[in-house]
Amino acid sequence: MSSITEVKAGRYTIRGVSVGGVYTCLQVPEIGALFDAGVALRGLVGGEHLFLSHGHADHMGGLVGLLGIRGIQERPRLRAFMPRAIHAGIASALEHMTGMHRFDLSMDIVPVDPGDEHQLRSDLHVRALKAHHVVPTLGYQFFNRVKRLKPAFQGLSGPEIAQRRRAGDDLFDEGERLELAYVTDTLLRVIDTSPSLLKTPVLILECTFLDERRSPERAHKSCHIHLDDLLPRAEEFENEHLVLMHLSQLYKPAEVHAILRRRLPASLYARVVPFAPQSGGWL
Ligand SMILES: [Zn+2]
Ligand SMILES: [Zn+2]
Repeated sequence: MSSITEVKAGRYTIRGVSVGGVYTCLQVPEIGALFDAGVALRGLVGGEHLFLSHGHADHMGGLVGLLGIRGIQERPRLRAFMPRAIHAGIASALEHMTGMHRFDLSMDIVPVDPGDEHQLRSDLHVRALKAHHVVPTLGYQFFNRVKRLKPAFQGLSGPEIAQRRRAGDDLFDEGERLELAYVTDTLLRVIDTSPSLLKTPVLILECTFLDERRSPERAHKSCHIHLDDLLPRAEEFENEHLVLMHLSQLYKPAEVHAILRRRLPASLYARVVPFAPQSGGWL
């Protein structure tokens, strides 16, 4: 019996289901995030924030069901980030569905543009990134704002630092500690337009097509990544964990694992987490 897939990538858990063109809905409980709503499953609706990548059905076709399940589970109102281009359409669709349902199916919608940043928690921010797909699409990168001692002060002891602080010295530089990023439905060009993705410790990235059953040219027409795009650039990925998702149903889950093991260089394969069931079929 197929079920929800769950993998670990560093300190993050990624649960859900993702089959390219069919449905994608992922949950990362450590940051209270749901990524896309392509399917509504009872065990896959929890989270404070929903991040929608774009308006294709396999990424938002389960939205009404997800909100309905959250209602029956008496979960708090969802805050949903999404490309500005689709926010009015989603709001109006939910209004119509609420009218039919006679139960509130609305959520707090936050329209975002590439480059926008929002604070989610005291220690967590999100930035929207432009993805390269056939419709307006966003990736999301999560980071923590941190203060680092300026190089000139790095040799000081704790009491000396405290003394300088009391004296009003400006000791710290503001910096960012990258945590995790989610980018689906895009050309691999996204690593050129947002190179910090390559340095994000956990990168959840689409890799829809894996071998000759779909040519790279055809993959590019629908603006998806083919493994052939990734191979020549394998050395650029500095991520601690690269979670590959949105895999096509052309491949059985067992084939996904075998193809990635065979085709990826060992140095990258060791850090790749295929988001596919270990056995059996797709959900
Ligand atoms: Zn898709
Ligand atoms: Zn799409």
